[in-house]
Amino acid sequence: MRRPVRNPDVLPVDLDTLPTPNGFDQVVATFGNPTDRGWAAANIVKVSPIDPFLLFFQEDNNSLIPVSGIQIHRKLKDNLQSVLHEIWEAAKERVNGTATDAKVQRYLREHRLDQHSGSFVIRNMRGGRRLSMHSFGIAIDWDANNNPQGNPNSTLPDFWYEIWAKHGWIDGRHFRTPDPMHVQFAKGT
Ligand SMILES: [Zn+2]
Repeated sequence: MRRPVRNPDVLPVDLDTLPTPNGFDQVVATFGNPTDRGWAAANIVKVSPIDPFLLFFQEDNNSLIPVSGIQIHRKLKDNLQSVLHEIWEAAKERVNGTATDAKVQRYLREHRLDQHSGSFVIRNMRGGRRLSMHSFGIAIDWDANNNPQGNPNSTLPDFWYEIWAKHGWIDGRHFRTPDPMHVQFAKGT
């Protein structure tokens, strides 16, 4: 169940109509084949968070590069923008006192919810022969430096994972090799 959208002018109202694909074949059927000629140009778009959410790219050395958006499959554009909007709203609720934009930005920074570590890249799954979900533009890594693959613990808050789950995303905390930085719009892969 979603809460009513407060800003119908900027947020689409027909959210989450796309079911989460189950298994690799359904992923290909839903999002196409990234190795097809011209696939990326036709399908990968950049999603920008709604102002005043400031987004950064987290580098290996922890430096943060301001970015205008995240590269994602076009079918997840509205979904991702809604997720980011809800993360902003959830942070706002958790700020003590009057939640100014600056305070919400500071909250996101303190919890490192404003920094992703990569989304679209064509590559095989680690140690596997199949394309990773990142290849389809349907996976994003967040705060990778503090939530590395193989680490069963996460620094990312439960409410944050719950927002992704509500919008059909699966996270990597319970993968055979835990991957707490990772969220993907696919299950059973
Ligand atoms: Zn990942």
